Amino acid sequence: MHTMSTRKVKDIFTRCAEYRTAEEARRCGYYPYFHVLESAPGPEVVIAGQTMLMLASNDYLGLAHDPRVQAAAAHALHHYGTGCCSSRFLAGTLRIHEKLETRLAAFVRKEAALVFSTGMQANLGLISALAHRKDWVFADKLVHASILDGCCLSHARMARFPHNDAAALAALLEKTDEDGGALVVIEGVYSMDGDIAPLPTLLATAHAHGARVIVDDAHGIGVLGANGAGTAEELGCLDEVDVVMGTFSKALAASGGFIAGTRNVIDYVRHHARSLIFSAALSAPMAAAVIASLEIVQQEPERRVRLRQVSDLLRNGLHDLGFDVGASVTPIIPVLIGSMERAAALWRTLYAQGVFTSLVIAPAVPPGGERLRLSVSAIHTDEHIARILKRFLQAGRATHII
Ligand code: PMP
Repeated sequence: MHTMSTRKVKDIFTRCAEYRTAEEARRCGYYPYFHVLESAPGPEVVIAGQTMLMLASNDYLGLAHDPRVQAAAAHALHHYGTGCCSSRFLAGTLRIHEKLETRLAAFVRKEAALVFSTGMQANLGLISALAHRKDWVFADKLVHASILDGCCLSHARMARFPHNDAAALAALLEKTDEDGGALVVIEGVYSMDGDIAPLPTLLATAHAHGARVIVDDAHGIGVLGANGAGTAEELGCLDEVDVVMGTFSKALAASGGFIAGTRNVIDYVRHHARSLIFSAALSAPMAAAVIASLEIVQQEPERRVRLRQVSDLLRNGLHDLGFDVGASVTPIIPVLIGSMERAAALWRTLYAQGVFTSLVIAPAVPPGGERLRLSVSAIHTDEHIARILKRFLQAGRATHII
């Protein structure tokens, strides 16, 4: 008679029990994440009972509290209810989704558009639907995590090229074999640096090799271009972009994401994107909020003008104080520090002085790229910016960064 031994595997929760990094940062007083806002998002917010100047929100046009956007969301809430309770694929497609998709397609001058529940899901679904095992995906070195994850899900071969480097992209495209197609994925405005991609050159390079191009314009939509249609509109190459991707979580002051392109590409993605098919539809209040925001984006270009003024004011002011603001030309302004300890020290000093910024460390940026990421809104006043600069002067000196 033999007894069966039960082999025990390592408890997978051990790594959770051993995880100390966040706790140690909290103990040292510089834990920068998951802070609870007790007020609405805006240029000033309340955190832990203290009024803070907000430089970490992506509400670029200040629409999160626009009464017209709120009224549209409230109206849809009463008409359609809180949730769709189904995937778009099955019973979750509402008339308001169709209306939003028609508006978005017209906005970025494409034949059709498709709405996802988040921007992350849009990238996951789009890239994994389009690229297959034998294809190539070429992505800029600095693209967002959602793009990298979309590439992984696609099982396509992947290579990354140095930031904004069209010659390096051309070299990669030259080396592809005949077996598969190629997708180039870039951003309009880079989310950690606030610089703009040389879209015309990158598009021409990709197209000369027969590759298709996705431009993730999460931070350009509503912010750049005469009508707010984004970076490609600003640079005069919107019609050349094969697929425009955008999110609703920034200038459009809601949540969700979209893609826009030719009718057949959008129809293909609609039937193959797992993040669309196997996930509940965007809620009606969100869809209505985005429609209202889009109208404001197009009708009130003065918001973009003001946003540019405020961005220049803060960027130039920081530069004049001696901070390194990199290649930013948009409302995203990095304050490059280059070391985790020094960046954390500046973050904590500013926090103590009532200025809330984002501390960005690896893996969100490459090691050595540690920084504070600032983003401004059209509703920051000159007086807000003056106060922010004063605190940066004090904090920069106290931490010996300037
Ligand atoms: N792409 C880029 C460039 C982004 O910055 C973000 C959001 N940080 C996303 C995609 C994902 O968008 P969402 O927040 O709507 O999921």
